Amino acid sequence: MHGMIKIIRCPSCGEEIVLKDLYDGLEITCSLCGNTIVYQNGKLHVMETNEEYELEELISEEEEAKREEEFEEEDYEEDYYAEY
Ligand SMILES: [Zn+2]
Repeated sequence: MHGMIKIIRCPSCGEEIVLKDLYDGLEITCSLCGNTIVYQNGKLHVMETNEEYELEELISEEEEAKREEEFEEEDYEEDYYAEY
């Protein structure tokens, strides 16, 4: 299993996090919400909420799927602010 890249989803915000390595004590920080997740004994421990997840629970199966389109529409629209 060495060298396999896994993608998990942040349990807090759903952001995809790429795991290039996996070992006991590995600390993962979500780049979006800043959550820290520690991998230990085959489980992912979320420091902020003190919750534990199985690795399989958080793994994203859409590794090859392009999901960037979803975010492009989230930008603030300038005409959202109505002036009067
Ligand atoms: Zn997050």
